[in-house]
This record gives sequence, structure tokens and C-alpha cells, in this order.
Amino acid sequence: MVAAVVCMLAAWFATAQNSSVKDQLAAKEQRLENLYAEYWRADYEVQQGKAGSSTQAVEEQIRAVISDPAFQRALEAARFTDPVDLRRRQLFLDEAGADEVANDPKLSALVQSIRDEESATRYKVGDRSLTRGEVNNIIGHEPDRRLRQQAWEARAQVTEKVGEQVRQAMKLRNQLSLRFSKRPFPDAALARKGLTRARITYWFEQIRAGSDPEYHRLVERMRRELRVTKVEPWDLEYYFSTLSRASEDKFFEREQAWPKIKRLALSLGYDFDRLPVQVKIADITFGGSTYPIFYGREVRILVNKYAGLRFTDTLLHEAGHALHYCFDDQGSFLLRNNYSEPFDEGLGQVMSLMLYRPEVAKEYFGLTSDQAGSIIERYRLKSLFDLRELMADFLFELAAYDQPDQNLAELYNQNYSRLLGVAMHRRAVWAFDPFYASQPIYEHNYVLAEMFGRQVHHALEQRFGWRWGLEAGRYIRDKFFSQGARYTLDELLVRGTGEPLTAKYLIESWRVH
Ligand SMILES: [Zn+2]
Repeated sequence: MVAAVVCMLAAWFATAQNSSVKDQLAAKEQRLENLYAEYWRADYEVQQGKAGSSTQAVEEQIRAVISDPAFQRALEAARFTDPVDLRRRQLFLDEAGADEVANDPKLSALVQSIRDEESATRYKVGDRSLTRGEVNNIIGHEPDRRLRQQAWEARAQVTEKVGEQVRQAMKLRNQLSLRFSKRPFPDAALARKGLTRARITYWFEQIRAGSDPEYHRLVERMRRELRVTKVEPWDLEYYFSTLSRASEDKFFEREQAWPKIKRLALSLGYDFDRLPVQVKIADITFGGSTYPIFYGREVRILVNKYAGLRFTDTLLHEAGHALHYCFDDQGSFLLRNNYSEPFDEGLGQVMSLMLYRPEVAKEYFGLTSDQAGSIIERYRLKSLFDLRELMADFLFELAAYDQPDQNLAELYNQNYSRLLGVAMHRRAVWAFDPFYASQPIYEHNYVLAEMFGRQVHHALEQRFGWRWGLEAGRYIRDKFFSQGARYTLDELLVRGTGEPLTAKYLIESWRVH
């Protein structure tokens, strides 16, 4: 009897404690929702270069809400049984774990110093002194091969400046991660997103092996069309600039892109005129960005002043994010916001890949069958290259975290040569990739997003045939756009496509039929 009373008291006490922890979690989520709105509004200004704009103050406020050891302990101890509560707890603890590493004062200072050094770097190319953007522009567009080579080699100049610091940042992240999450940095970062190193390396190997014949045909074609005896690293990007056709530009005028995208979206039942989405074309340093200021209530798209097909493609991708942020209705802030990146980026790709469906290219963008075939083929070739490059960058990064003291230039070049099939001439160009300092363990997300996009398109074709309308639109909204972090990436894909994330539809998309 006494034992039962004690038991009941303990149960009552535990329930009371749990509900107080739950209330605190809800209050924190509410606070985060408002702070993030402030953060995104500030970042929207920062990215457009507005004087005096900064995200620093609000970032500190966000940190203060998340970093709360006493609450964290209470949350860990709480006996939740409801799956949604369990998921919210996991999301909060994951966020706190990631923040412990990212916001370590020593690491933050180191990363900031690398960024400052990177943006101050001017690359000596011949007798010119160039910015990163100018160097990239030469590598991607300059017909003079000698100049392209010089620009490509000049990228090693930034490694001389920041390479050692990036190595230190990797070591520090590993140390911090071992302390807070009991495993090395890459493994902890991937685990938080429901991924493992083994699965990613398995997919990457499947993708490499599965696309080898197509990729080698592409390199052979480059060699022939560029009239070179051997394809070099400074030929790869450039080759794609030689493929675009000026005759297509009239279908992809910048002013026409948004009205055309709106018509396409409307055919799926998504009426942008009635959605809280604002689009702005701006001078920014990246392709585009979409801000979920308040999910369902206020969404803003910023898109670069690109020209032609590239602009339409980018804006469609951003429209995919915007639909996601409008429709994501997963209750609490963490459930709406803390989704895995391949899911969110994948939804951007679900929309941008529509452009490369013959029916859509013809009906909504006005192309002839021949023109549609041509942009589809170019996309196929470019993604064969882009995804291999991303895989090389990411595999290098994983191996670098395993043994940061090894020769990183050699490690990078081995990975790059193996995947891209070009010689790297012993140049230490690896640190030119800004992700290693600023966005560690991230580049795989773009590969996974492409896998996601292809997998979803395949499932929709199976279900709705080639022409998608309102019914397909409702399905995509229900299974994907309305989803957030309640389910993992694989759970979402199983619910929407019948199988967990797989590389097979991406590999299939590269086969010539
Ligand atoms: Zn995106």
C-alpha cells in the first residue's frame, strides 16, 4: 500500500515535472520562432549589402535560448512517451549539441579569421590581381586556355594563406565533438541528420560506378569538341559554357521567368498570387536564397541577377523552398524548422527538375521538342560533372577529418583525380573551397538533394503518368511540402515514394535512352 502511494506520488511528480519541461520547451520554441524571424529579416538585408545590417546581436540571443545546461539536463531526464514529444526533445538536444561545437569561442574566432583572410585575398593571375569571383569567371568562361590554366593554378594562393588554419579548425571541431557528442565531428554532424558515413560512401560509390561509362563519354566529348589532346581541370567548367545556345535566351528572359513559374505552379494547384511570398531580384554573391521568416505567413525569395536558363532554373529551385515554407504545417517551431537539409534542398530540386521535363519545357516555357531535348541533355551532362565534383570534395573532407595531419593537398588531388579523371599537377588548390571553413560537412547535401528530386519525380511518374495536375500537386503538398522535421528524411521518402533514399533514379537519369 505504502509502496503504491509512493509510486503514485512519484508518477504524479514525474508527470508534473514532464509537463513543466514540456511547457519550458514550448516557451523556448516560441522564443526561437520570433528570434529566427528577426535573424532571417536581418540576414535578408545583410545579403543585399545594406549598410549597418548585421545578424550578430540576434544570433547571440538565439544562442542564449538554446544553450541552457540546466534545461538540457531536465529535458534529457524527462520521461516522454508521446512520439511527437520525443521527436521535439531530440531536435532540441541535437541543435544544442551542434551549437556547442559551432559556437565555441576559439573555433568561431578561427573561422572568422579564415573568412576575413579569404575575402581579403586577391589572386595574382599574370600581372593582374583578381577577386575570387573574377577567378571563377575566367575558369568558367575564358576561351584563352592558357589564361584559364593560370586562373586555376592561382587558386592555390589561398591555400598558402588559410590552409593551416582550416586544418586547425578541423582538429578543433573533432576535439569539441568528441567532448560533447562522444564521436568525431563528421559522424556527429551526419547522425543529427539521420545519416551515416557508411550510407553516404555507399551511395557515392554506387553513383560513381553507375555513371562511369557516361562520365567517360563526356570527358571524351570535351576532348574532341575543345580540340585538346588531354582534358585538364581548367577545361571542365569552361566546356559547359560552350554548350549554351543564344537562340534559347528568348524563352528564358528574366522578366518572364516568374510569370511562367507561377503558371506552372498554378497547374499543380499552387497559386503564388495568394501565397505570402515576396520575390526580389538582387545583387548577391550566391544564386538565390529563400527565407522562411514565419512559416505559412511570410516568405521571401532573393535571387541573383543571372541571365537566361540559369536564372529560371535558380528561381524555380527557390520557388520549391517557398512552397515548402508556405505549406510546412508541422505544429511547433522545431518540428517545422529543423528538417534535414537534403529534404529541404530536395524540394527545391523537385521544382527545378520540372524544367527538364519535355512536357513542361514545351507547355510552360515555350520550347520546341528539339530545344527541350537540348536543355535536358545539357542538364544531364552538367549534373554528371557537378555531382562528381561535390562527391570528390566531400570524400576528401571526410578523410581529412579522420587524419587532419596528413598531406591535404595530396589527399584532395587523389580524390579529385579519381572521380573527375583529370591530373591535378600537384597544385594545392583544396582550400579554395570555402565550405571547409564556413560550412563543414555540408556538400553531400547537394548530391542527396538531387537523389531526392529524381526519386520523387520517378514516384510521381509512376502514380500520375507524364502530365501532372491538381491531383499530383495535392499529393506533393501532402507528402512533402507540408512536412518538416516530424519525420526523418527516410521516413518521408518511404511515405511519399515507398522506399528510403536511393541513388538508383539519379543514376538512371544519366542513362541515354
Ligand atoms: Zn536551395
